[in-house]
Amino acid sequence: MTSLRQIPSVDHLLQQPAAELLLREFGHDWLVSAIRDALEKLRSEVKAGKALPNDDAILEGVAASLEAQAQPTLRPLINATGVVLHTNLGRAPLSGEALQALDQAAAGYCSLEFDLESGKRGKRDIHAAQLLTKITGAEAALVVNNNAAAILLALSAVAKRKPVAISRAQLVEIGDGFRIPDVLRLSGAKLMEVGTTNRTHPRDFELAAEAGAAAFLYAHPSNFRIEGFTSQPDLREMADLAHAHGLPLLVDLGSGALVDTAVYGLAHEPSAQDALAVDADVVTFSGDKLLGGPQAGIVVGKAVWLEKLRKHPLYRAIRADKLCLAALSATLLIYLKGQQTSHIPIHQMLARAPEAIKEQASAWQAKLGLGEVISGFSTVGGGSLPGETLPTWLLAFPGMPANNLMARLRAQPFPIIARIQDDMVVLDPRTVLPGQEAMLLEGLTQAILPKKDRE
Ligand SMILES: *Cc1c(COP(=O)(O)O)cnc(C)c1O
Repeated sequence: MTSLRQIPSVDHLLQQPAAELLLREFGHDWLVSAIRDALEKLRSEVKAGKALPNDDAILEGVAASLEAQAQPTLRPLINATGVVLHTNLGRAPLSGEALQALDQAAAGYCSLEFDLESGKRGKRDIHAAQLLTKITGAEAALVVNNNAAAILLALSAVAKRKPVAISRAQLVEIGDGFRIPDVLRLSGAKLMEVGTTNRTHPRDFELAAEAGAAAFLYAHPSNFRIEGFTSQPDLREMADLAHAHGLPLLVDLGSGALVDTAVYGLAHEPSAQDALAVDADVVTFSGDKLLGGPQAGIVVGKAVWLEKLRKHPLYRAIRADKLCLAALSATLLIYLKGQQTSHIPIHQMLARAPEAIKEQASAWQAKLGLGEVISGFSTVGGGSLPGETLPTWLLAFPGMPANNLMARLRAQPFPIIARIQDDMVVLDPRTVLPGQEAMLLEGLTQAILPKKDRE
């Protein structure tokens, strides 16, 4: 029987040679707290009749616990789901240009609010805004933390305590409980529901204007489609009606493409330019969806309205930081040069030819000596183009318990996130970044092949 008095003290363990390395790596306080936790656990184990491990074994346990605590919770991984803009997996990977700009802005000081010509205080709004107005033709632009914040700011600055008319078909929940009606109320605006779930007519908005609406809101339905007996006024009708009554039209584009998604064989997604072309007053969209940049909420539109947004106290609370502005500006510059298809990762993914994807899936299959290449579909995700898919080729693993294999793929040092289709684990090469292929194959080998078959 081991007695509790045989359990070593914290000081005794700290003096062991094995503790020296841990002390250097994790620091005194953290190490002591991990030793205390380990001793606490030992006490109950000894009480339960277990044998006492030696000092080295105790410290090994302490090391393992410290290593586990030091693992970042935010880990890089391989997206093999074929969902290009996967919100849970961090949406758009950045371009090389954006990474470089990020690096420079992050590592040193920068002219965030400093005018190099005059040597006086400058404005942080100008950085991405100049590029945004150039690309979209908007009078003015503003960047905040994300699109949800942009909508909140727009509604707060334009329509506080006033009724905002929106079609019942657009009272959507975007995800994770983010609901347009809630944001509307939070902004202090009053929700004025117009039309019905499936059909809303221009006449409904006319009545809303006559009933005292202060603005119209058009929200992209984002992640669902209404089919069948449906009708909605389009952006132009909404803008014309709003302006006929002297009201502003606010547009939440959601994903907000800056180029026509039809070039990738997808449906046409209303772009920022489309909304501006019909003379919408305030247009908001995300930076990290179809734009392919960092998380940001972009606002473009008329200078009179954007000035109200800029002056609103909320703007200060949700403004973009230097890292966001650096990465966003570098991304926008790519658009200005018309190089998005070749330089922005998510556009490269959207543009990939199915034959090239098939070749890649076949190469993986050949290297593994396992799996089956089948045709399938990739999706855009991120609340863009609901229901739209791109033809792709998948490496499938029929006959292997899907949930078990998914778990083993996630457990790799460089986790692999796959997808289950028809009870099979499938991997879509479309969303696997070029630099990650070797790690993917290594992870697959570890997860699938029995040890004896590995080279
Ligand atoms: C994604 C989305 C938002 C939220 O954008 P974030 O940048 O994630 O805050 C708002 N509205 C619509 C229609 C969306 O699709």
